[in-house]
Amino acid sequence: MNVLVVNCGSSSLKFQLINSDTEAVAAKGLCERIGIDGRLVYQPAGGEKEVTEAPMPTHTEAISLVLKALVNEKTGVLKSLDEVDAIGHRVLHGGSKITESRVIDDEVIAVIDECCDLGPLHNPANLMGIRACMELMPGKPNVAVFDTSFHQSMPPKAYRYAIPTEYYEKYAVRKYGFHGTSHRYVSGEAIKYLGLDKDNSRVIVAHLGNGASISAVKNGKCVDTSMGLTPLEGLVMGTRSGDLDPAVLEYICNKEGLTVSEMLTILNKKSGVMALSNNLSSDFRDLEEAMDNGNEAAALAIEAFSYRVAKYIGSYAAAMNGVDAIVFTGGIGENAGVVRKAVLSYLGYLGITMDEAANKKRGENFILSTPDSKVKVAVMPTNEELAICRDTVELVKNS
Ligand code: AMP
Repeated sequence: MNVLVVNCGSSSLKFQLINSDTEAVAAKGLCERIGIDGRLVYQPAGGEKEVTEAPMPTHTEAISLVLKALVNEKTGVLKSLDEVDAIGHRVLHGGSKITESRVIDDEVIAVIDECCDLGPLHNPANLMGIRACMELMPGKPNVAVFDTSFHQSMPPKAYRYAIPTEYYEKYAVRKYGFHGTSHRYVSGEAIKYLGLDKDNSRVIVAHLGNGASISAVKNGKCVDTSMGLTPLEGLVMGTRSGDLDPAVLEYICNKEGLTVSEMLTILNKKSGVMALSNNLSSDFRDLEEAMDNGNEAAALAIEAFSYRVAKYIGSYAAAMNGVDAIVFTGGIGENAGVVRKAVLSYLGYLGITMDEAANKKRGENFILSTPDSKVKVAVMPTNEELAICRDTVELVKNS
């Protein structure tokens, strides 16, 4: 089957056309600046990247341009759109009602719509992408794969906040967690790669990218994760603060005359390693280089980031009464040996020893722990698009 995987943000759209039999990507790309002006980057497998400036007032025009590129006579990879068998959509928030991927029907659309409140930047864009595909490819099955659904197996002790129950009952305020497609894919692949028994396994996945989250996966099911009601909770991230005393909000708002919403923008966009490095960068390549040149703020940013990851791993080992495997993924987890080394330096008490030579590798599945390490540690690239493609095929075949 040819599956078009679509990931819509508020002003952008990423896509991949995947052949589900070979799991090869036939073409991929992105639309940027939707609603502003519009730019399509398109790349067929083995071909050059093409950049086209074209007006994209809404996601419908953006998807229409993607479809035209896919069937373009010279650089297209399909003869006609009839060859697209299904569309898989990444959707941010499914609230508490959706616990797995679903074929999109009126009920699923209603839930995505209801959850716009909880995912105000993404859910409306996800809906626009879904509606555009339905309009431009009528009759084709669409599947929604939710960032929150893998975390729905968390028990109440993990997802409830210790605040008055009325806020949970009236407004569904609780921990939801995000990056679920990545945590599910990576934990599942790790179980196979490391030869673990799924029904008797305790895996911690550290998805460390510009957005970063960590999850505890027991017997293939998520029992805890670091992001919360929104992606702001948990680890220190590129520009997000992660965990902090909520009283900080009021304190700074009062001192600086800021509104809560202005302060939240600061916590989401101007904090994290960007802030700790004194606004040097949110990119670990820049931070590493600066640290190597003696920049103390960059060194602090890397150290604080790694320390928070190590603390979460310790708490999730406690949550599962032990841990069999720790897996690093995401742009930082896959590439930044300096972060992996710093994180593991706190975990000797778990009987973990790192293979220094292996830590120089990047960009492939590899084992980072030495053979005598009590806990296996691996690095595994995530592939959310492939996970979405696999779910889409399974649901469409069975529907
Ligand atoms: P992601 O959000 O998963 O795409 O991760 C993006 C982040 O990964 C970037 O902001 C960098 O901080 C980090 N990253 C990517 N490549 C490298 C690399 N070669 N070395 C260190 N960090 C990297």
